[in-house]
Amino acid sequence: MSVRQREKLLLGSPMESPSLCLQDWVAICWEHFDGVVIIFINNEWHDAASKKTFPTINPSTGEIICQVAEGDKADIDKAVKAAKEAFKFGSPWRRMDASHRSKLINRLADLIERDRAYLAALETLDNGKPYSISYLVDLDMVVKHLRYYAGWADKIHGKTIPLDGDFFTYTRHEPVGICGQIIPWNFPLLMQAWKLGPALATGNVVVMKLAEQTPLTGLYVASLIKEAGFPPGVVNIVPGYGKTAGAAISSHMDVDKVAFTGSTEVGHLIQKAAAESNMKRVTLELGGKSPNIIMSDADMDWAVEQAHSALFFNQGQCCCAGSRTYVQEDIYHEFVERSVERAKSRVVGNPFDFKTEQGPQVDEDQYNKILGYINTGKKEGAKLLCGGNPAADKGYFIQPTIFGEVQDDMTIAREEIFGPVMQILKFKSIEEVIHRANDTKYGLAAAVFTKDIDKANYISQGLRAGTVWINCYNVFGTQAPFGGYKASGQGREGGEYGLTPYMEVKTVTIKVPQKNS
Ligand code: NAP
Ligand code: MG
Repeated sequence: MSVRQREKLLLGSPMESPSLCLQDWVAICWEHFDGVVIIFINNEWHDAASKKTFPTINPSTGEIICQVAEGDKADIDKAVKAAKEAFKFGSPWRRMDASHRSKLINRLADLIERDRAYLAALETLDNGKPYSISYLVDLDMVVKHLRYYAGWADKIHGKTIPLDGDFFTYTRHEPVGICGQIIPWNFPLLMQAWKLGPALATGNVVVMKLAEQTPLTGLYVASLIKEAGFPPGVVNIVPGYGKTAGAAISSHMDVDKVAFTGSTEVGHLIQKAAAESNMKRVTLELGGKSPNIIMSDADMDWAVEQAHSALFFNQGQCCCAGSRTYVQEDIYHEFVERSVERAKSRVVGNPFDFKTEQGPQVDEDQYNKILGYINTGKKEGAKLLCGGNPAADKGYFIQPTIFGEVQDDMTIAREEIFGPVMQILKFKSIEEVIHRANDTKYGLAAAVFTKDIDKANYISQGLRAGTVWINCYNVFGTQAPFGGYKASGQGREGGEYGLTPYMEVKTVTIKVPQKNS
């Protein structure tokens, strides 16, 4: 029975069906990938050159889902070679009409929509995020993102320039070339779409490394890339480890650009490798410790709920998580009390159950790291108000946790925890909170909740962050740019701004002979 027949049998209309049976999904996954998931180069499937494999884990149980080919430098070299061939001057991809590029990206979006239920389930199986979120949020954003950039493909143009003298000067926006893309595990499909959309719209070719924790959906999308009709070598996808496959991309002499999303620590390594190899272009989307400022005139119900999801959404595994909740002193106690009540009611459990709000953390390393931060918080004197422990006997589940009376210099107020651990801090005045909010190496996102528009504007102008939300949080649209100030990154993804890093500007100047000269 084919994957799609099985899927139909299981789901009918996916969002109306009762809880899905995890075992059935594991079986489908095995059947689809035939036990071992392999590397995608030149629109073909390959074993790793070393023949090595690594297991990918279901974080709800800690069990192995399947083995995945472990790509390393040799496989990256092979993928870069294929990409180079696909990008050769005069190749089908280079000669393809921009409107046709648009059509291919739209076709990919169509295929992802067709297989939405399967992809959402595979994402949940490999990553642990609730199926309702994978299906309704992640997949929705993936499709919209690809369609948005498909729309750009034939609307990218340069300028004519009034150069002094008898010349005609114009600019062409050309693809950068071979783009290495290294993506993380917190939004595997979405980060893949964020990287592929602008790269393909502008005519680049891609060598992508998937996160070792969550390689399955990205490789399923590889099969859809082939089905959509992209020429061989335009997109190559290699699962593997960062230290080997990832590092081979960032130091490769034939890779023209690297786009990376992940930790600030690895961001440093990527930039260093780029500088020490061929000065490839670098865009980085890194960590954060984003302040979420609640003024005493904020709508309390809304602010509590938004601050809750600002931190706990996606198991707390968001680069822009509102992980420093600053609350004005006169509402501090009420806000804390209501936030604790909300956290205690958060439904943690089987991510395939539609009632579940929070699944497991992505892997054992992250789980241990988060429990370590909770211990540090206690030791350094923050007040543990709820949670603080594992939430199940097996799998990597952690209770929604809140610390009150957090001070700015505590480790939990300075470092990215990347888990369901909320820090609440008290402040008195606007000037004070702007200063404290900016007192971090990061600058990814920030938010302010107030009914006073003047306060909102003043504070948002003072905050050094790439995104500021006012009376909302985690609002993403493919049309808007996203990226960080300071150590939170370089460059922007999303919107028209997201095209810029994928283009070189070529200036062409032509001598125009004058009639009587
Ligand atoms: P990470 O190491 O930065 O991983 C992100 C990606 O970079 C993965 O594909 C990783 O490969 C790869 N990578 C690792 N070392 C590399 C190297 N030397 N050269 C090139 N690529 C390399 O993040 P992590 O270890 O998964 O998570 C650690 C922390 O990073 C988290 O706790 C969180 O604070 C932060 N993080 C941030 C984001 C974000 O959205 N900004 C996303 C994920 C994690 P592997 O598959 O081998 O890991
Ligand atoms: Mg996994």
